Amino acid sequence: LPSGDIAWKKSPCRFCGVGCGLLIGLQEGKAIAVKGDPQSSVNKGLCCVKGYHSVMALYGKDRLTKPLVRKNGKMVETSMQEALDLVAQKMQEAIDNHGKDSVALYGSGQWTIPDGYVASKLMKGAIGTNNLEANARLCMASAVTGFMSTFGMDEPMGCYDDIDHADVFVLWGNNMAEMHPVLFSRLLDNRLKRKNVKIIDLATRTTRTSMAADRSILFKPQTDLAIANAICCEIVNNDWVNTQFVRKHTHFKKGKTDIGYGLEDGFQFNDKISDISFEDYKTFLQDYKPESIQELSGVSAKDLKYLASLYGNPNLKVMSLWCMGPNQHTRGTWINNLIYNIHLLTGKISTPGNSPFSLTGQPSACGTVREVGTLTHKLPHGVVMDEHSREMAAEIWQVPVEKIPSKPTYHTVEMFRALDRGDLKFMWIQVTNPMVTMPKLNRYREGALKEGRFVVVSDVYPTPTTAIADVILPSAMWIEREGMFGNSERRTQHFEQMLEPPGEAMSDTWQLIEVARRLGYEKLFPWTKENHIEEIWKEYGRFHEGPKHGMAPYETLKSQPGAQWPFHEGKSTKWRFNPKYDPACKREGFDFYGKADGKAWILARPYEAPPEVPDNEYPFWLNTGRVVEHWHTGSMTRRVSVLHQAVPNSYVELHPDDARRMNIRTGNLVKISSRRGEIVMPASVDERGKPAPGHVFVPFFDEQFLINELTLDAFCPISKQPDYKKCAVKVEKY
Ligand code: SF4
Repeated sequence: LPSGDIAWKKSPCRFCGVGCGLLIGLQEGKAIAVKGDPQSSVNKGLCCVKGYHSVMALYGKDRLTKPLVRKNGKMVETSMQEALDLVAQKMQEAIDNHGKDSVALYGSGQWTIPDGYVASKLMKGAIGTNNLEANARLCMASAVTGFMSTFGMDEPMGCYDDIDHADVFVLWGNNMAEMHPVLFSRLLDNRLKRKNVKIIDLATRTTRTSMAADRSILFKPQTDLAIANAICCEIVNNDWVNTQFVRKHTHFKKGKTDIGYGLEDGFQFNDKISDISFEDYKTFLQDYKPESIQELSGVSAKDLKYLASLYGNPNLKVMSLWCMGPNQHTRGTWINNLIYNIHLLTGKISTPGNSPFSLTGQPSACGTVREVGTLTHKLPHGVVMDEHSREMAAEIWQVPVEKIPSKPTYHTVEMFRALDRGDLKFMWIQVTNPMVTMPKLNRYREGALKEGRFVVVSDVYPTPTTAIADVILPSAMWIEREGMFGNSERRTQHFEQMLEPPGEAMSDTWQLIEVARRLGYEKLFPWTKENHIEEIWKEYGRFHEGPKHGMAPYETLKSQPGAQWPFHEGKSTKWRFNPKYDPACKREGFDFYGKADGKAWILARPYEAPPEVPDNEYPFWLNTGRVVEHWHTGSMTRRVSVLHQAVPNSYVELHPDDARRMNIRTGNLVKISSRRGEIVMPASVDERGKPAPGHVFVPFFDEQFLINELTLDAFCPISKQPDYKKCAVKVEKY
């Protein structure tokens, strides 16, 4: 550390959804150091490699500091005022010539809460279009529809403290050691301190998580649906059901089956729920006896029975954890429902250590996208289809209720299809990099580049997405502005502005406000630069007033390392739906108050095959994901030299037997192709991760190797979230 005084200020980490508390060391107007905040109950002073190097991401050499505008095919510098004038002018032209549904805003789970709130108010309240989406559709949408269908309310009922209480952890397709490393260290810490704590890794690939687990169980892609049903079948057939809990607090239901894969559809929820009895449910489960599904799933009947026995043992507290595995899934809503079924049948829910816990990927996927509701069908409270929610928004925003349209328009994949078709003429993209992350990427890149589309991109570094822009706006990053993030455990965390943004860079919130004012909506956005975050928080808080979703006051958020909603009478709520911890409960025992009668739904959901499976032409499964050193598309972490040097490029992981058969060694170039595209990249054999035979895995952080040119844009027809975890590819030595 340099000598001299260092001022330490608190902030949540910029990167993942764990939401670790950091202390940022500041000296002479620069962030020069980071340490974990020992007062943070999330990480208790620990960080991962990204957190410790997070401030270095502010100082990459090619930081965007001036707006750029496309003139005669070339990007030329201009002033921020002129660039914002042009953005407003082009937006207005599109609205005048093609209607308000010809403009769209695409944001992010890395938006701060004020960014998302202003985006929602501008698009839905001021302009009057539901053309608002965020990249969390690509990572969390199935978690939301899972919560909504089972509990009627989004986000986990438990909290990270569950990790300190559980006896058994079942990780469902969740490489926590790399994706949620600080939480995973908390699991390991629990296992070190207490006897007989077990970690079970249930996955399609061997990872660092598998290596640390007590048991690694590999399954075939998509068969998690059958596995979850097999566990329930064993629980029911062995009389391990917590009958009292089930009778008092649940209903049995079934949904529509054979609902397609969303390859070409509009915005339909595609789920129709009806009542069934416990006996009907028991009959449904009999197709999933462990012996019947061992071949389909690749998991032995013995292992399936072992898993069921852990959940079914009344003396064990069990925590299930998952993230992208179940969510990026063409039956994502269903597999979320099925994991809840296991916990509801056994009553292992909403008590310390008994917890089905859906983790988030991004720092504010919960806070900004799910709570503020920056999705086409959402409002800050409720959905656009609900009259009461529209009335509430109109009253708080002071706009006529007719202004807020009652029909959702485009979910993310459909939004990029609309740009391709030409139904959208103007799109503004903030804090995300869809030209790396969209599945079936070639189609959407070509679509965005067609004549007659105007694309604005706000970001901190040049990316493949800024490469398609007509205007690039330089954004202030993280602690260069004030904001809040909301993490996986319903915790909202505030950070103050600690640094001046470079050049003309401006916060995404303020960019939106500047354009809103140019469009004539000054009255809706009356705040000053000095007070706007506080005023936005107060206005936004009105949407969630009450014991079920109340947010902590601004002053509280400023004074402590976060608060968990529902925030009631000065206190965070750690476990929802349990009257012992949650003052919003009105019923005895448990009160799943998201549902009108306080009862959660056990939903019969079958196994259905994925839309594309390996065949003679494309014989391998392709899975994509992340590595611990890089954040998402690597646009920030690849500029941090120590992280870049640790993993300088992406690669394709192969099983050693497949590699041997094709005479491929680590570092050899390999061509991978699918029905949608092909790339050539280096091989990795038996290094960090090991896919099963017949599978390959590629991290998506590296823009030199755009693996999403190969992925399939099929999605869960209920959540509209695409499946990045399975499609068919060919693998050849290059
Ligand atoms: Fe940041 Fe996530 Fe690492 Fe914590 S685990 S330091 S939030 S990247």
